[in-house]
Amino acid sequence: MIETADVVIIGSGIVGSSVAYHLAEQGCTNVLVIEREAHQGKGSTGKSMGGVRAQFATDVNIQMSRYSIDFFSRFDEVVGYPADYRAHGYLFCANSEQHLDYLKTNRERQLALGVRNVELVSREDIVKFVPQLRADDILGGTFCPTDGFVDPHSVMMGFMLKARERGVRLWLDIQVTGIETELVGSGSAGAAPAPAAASSNSFPHRQVTGVNTTRGVISTRVVVNAAGPWAAEVARMAGAELPVEPLRRQLVPTEPFDKLPKRFPMVIDMSTGFHFRREGKGILLAWNDPEETPGFKTEFDPSFVEKILMRAASRVPCLVDAEVNPRRAWAGLYEMTPDHHAIIGPASNVAGLYFVNGFSGHGVMHSPASGRITADLILQGRSKLIDASQLSVKRFAEGRLLEETAVL
Ligand SMILES: Cc1cc2nc3c(=O)[nH]c(=O)nc-3n(C[C@H](O)[C@H](O)[C@H](O)COP(=O)(O)OP(=O)(O)OC[C@H]3O[C@@H](n4cnc5c(N)ncnc54)[C@H](O)[C@@H]3O)c2cc1C
Repeated sequence: MIETADVVIIGSGIVGSSVAYHLAEQGCTNVLVIEREAHQGKGSTGKSMGGVRAQFATDVNIQMSRYSIDFFSRFDEVVGYPADYRAHGYLFCANSEQHLDYLKTNRERQLALGVRNVELVSREDIVKFVPQLRADDILGGTFCPTDGFVDPHSVMMGFMLKARERGVRLWLDIQVTGIETELVGSGSAGAAPAPAAASSNSFPHRQVTGVNTTRGVISTRVVVNAAGPWAAEVARMAGAELPVEPLRRQLVPTEPFDKLPKRFPMVIDMSTGFHFRREGKGILLAWNDPEETPGFKTEFDPSFVEKILMRAASRVPCLVDAEVNPRRAWAGLYEMTPDHHAIIGPASNVAGLYFVNGFSGHGVMHSPASGRITADLILQGRSKLIDASQLSVKRFAEGRLLEETAVL
């Protein structure tokens, strides 16, 4: 007998899991999530730094963060599983007037959108958070106490476990190898839930009819592409173009280090982009190498250690004493779009195909909002959370790019 589902989600990372959860919460439970790995979290989700912040530059990112951080603060109670949300804050440190003005402008926008607790801080305030910082060139910064961290693996598992309690099915170790479509004429999309794209497309158009997998064919009229860095490849299976490319990011944990406070915010040195936070007894060091080029590179490059330690020691001199074992460092893939914003919503040319991709480094923090928006679009054709048309893939063809400059 051929397997059927109202919605098939490709990918069970934090984003696919959130979509499954939000569909199930809205009563759509005949959902099948397909994951090619034997375990969840082997993609970008398992590599993430777990940072969550509302301190963004564009309205849509601020709105997505506001919803998501509020969700994380209630996650344990609402979802019934822990998210390990720690409101330790994000502290941006500016050492040029230009950066300080940028933070002030962003703060005005954040306040206007209801993120009311972003504070302007002086050099003296900054040093109180982390007395070991070299602050002679710091002019000030911003701090938001409800920014912080979550455990991405726990969030992903919480979403999926709850979705499965509601009836969602998860297939592990099964790869999606193709997406079937058919050419249809006017008014043909009859199955529930009706894909919003079907009604708005010009006719005749192509409609999703199923997916091919290593376990056979699944009949469905709605497919959600939640394939993380592999999203463009999955879109191509349906003949759709998706401007998402993988870009390596590397993280370096130190061995236990007690010369910095036990608790402090994520600190961002805006002069270099170097940022760091406490991870257990050690410190987690991050820096996005501007020389990195797109590609599926997931090996950690040992020469990165020296590059990052140089930036670390320049801002936090005591970090020269930190020990680093390169074997404990890791690399993963960001899913980058040309304007550093997610792509959420129906494909332009295939009815029933939905994208929730291209988070450009923010897929963990925006997972609650992106799951909710995707479920809304599939089930109701619109979302009350944000004007989702801003995130549509059409923006690239129409030249409506949304540039986010606060990318870490
Ligand atoms: C080093 C690093 C640090 C980061 N730090 C942060 C941070 O601090 N905060 C933040 O918000 N974000 C951060 N991110 C980004 C974040 O991790 C991602 O945006 C997020 O995890 C994307 O989740 P996803 O579910 O879309 O993708 P993934 O977790 O990659 O999941 C996609 C899944 O799809 C599966 N799949 C792909 N193709 C197929 C197929 N054909 N058939 C079946 N299954 C398939 C894959 O196996 C994978 O499990 C970081 C990323 C990296 C690499």
